[in-house]
Formats: sequence, structure tokens, C-alpha cells
Amino acid sequence: MTSVVLSIGSNLGDRMARLQSVLDGLGPAVRAVSPVYETDAWGGVEQGPFLNAVLIADDPALDGQGWLRRGQELEQAAGRVRGQRWGPRTLDVDLIACYDGDVELSSRTDGLTLPHPLAHLRAFVLIPWLTVDPDATLTVAGESRPVQRLLGEIDQAERDGVRPTDLALTLQTESTRD
Ligand code: ADP
Ligand code: MG
Repeated sequence: MTSVVLSIGSNLGDRMARLQSVLDGLGPAVRAVSPVYETDAWGGVEQGPFLNAVLIADDPALDGQGWLRRGQELEQAAGRVRGQRWGPRTLDVDLIACYDGDVELSSRTDGLTLPHPLAHLRAFVLIPWLTVDPDATLTVAGESRPVQRLLGEIDQAERDGVRPTDLALTLQTESTRD
């Protein structure tokens, strides 16, 4: 059984519809989804703020590469055009960490780096992740670290920049499945 922590973000078009398309696309594989946060874009490109969330999904048939492909299919379905690096995007789906049972997988090949090399520096990833898994850990420089600690090492100003919203994504449950 593999499970994955996905960070999803959108800052172009109907941002909530883009995020919801990931939950709809993955369907019952999604186990948990965080609240939605708004975050100003960074990377020096002038653009609107992102909506961000984190979700946890399970699928016995997918390995890290399989999850990467699923994420890219969902980005394409949301009309993503790969343009400027760190520029505006209809949908970004990043794999933060992937697990086989309890074992965190690592990858450095084929366009896939696991765990995500910047996740521990991104408040917009760590804050939502902790809402769905307060005991989450992440391997940084070969060491397994509590995500709560990693968040504490990020500047307060950056943490404050991850603003709660009252927007909510809808998780497909047994009763809403058709
Ligand atoms: P970013 O998410 O860094 O803003 P992109 O979404 O355009 O940029 O992704 C660029 C490339 O990053 C993708 O083609 C993908 O192959 C690669 N990549 C490497 N590791 C990961 C990961 N953990 N999650 C998602 N994409 C990854
Ligand atoms: Mg990406």
C-alpha cells in the first residue's frame, strides 16, 4: 500500500474549482484534506495569490512515479500550461512525501525528488499538512524530523503569510460515491 502527501495550489482562474478537481479526480483514494489557505506568490514573478491545501491519498497500485503521473494528468486536465518558472498556474500538484506502509520512500531519479526538496522550507505546505496529520515527520538531510519542528524554524512573517480562509474542499466519501 502506498500513500502520498500532496500539496495542491492554484492562482489562476477559478482557483477553488481547480483544487476541487484533484479531489474529484482521485475520488475515494483521498483519505484526508486540509482546510484551504491563501498565500502570496513568491519567486519574484508578479502574480495573484495562491489557494493551497494538502491532502493524503492511498492507492495500492501506485508508486512514486505513478503518483507523479497522476498529479501531472490532473494538472493537464486543469488546463495547465508550462510557462514561466514559478509563474502563475491553474494547478500545481507536488508530491511532498510518499510511503510504502510506514516506510518513507526516497527518490532522486526520472524527474522525481522525494521527499520534495523544498517542502521543509514552505509554510504553505507544512501548515496545512499539520492540520491533517499533527504527528507528521519528514526526512530532511537524511534525518527524520517532526513537521511541527520544521515549521518552527520558518520565519514568523512567512508563517503569518499563510492565511486561513473559510473555503472548504469536498472529500468524496462512501455516501457521495456513485
Ligand atoms: P514547481 O512545482 O517546482 O513550481 P513544476 O510543477 O513545473 O514546478 O515541476 C517541475 C518538475 O518537477 C516536474 O516536471 C516534475 O517532474 C519535477 N518534480 C521533481 N520532484 C517532484 C515532486 N516531488 N513533486 C512534483 N514534481 C516533481
Ligand atoms: Mg509542481
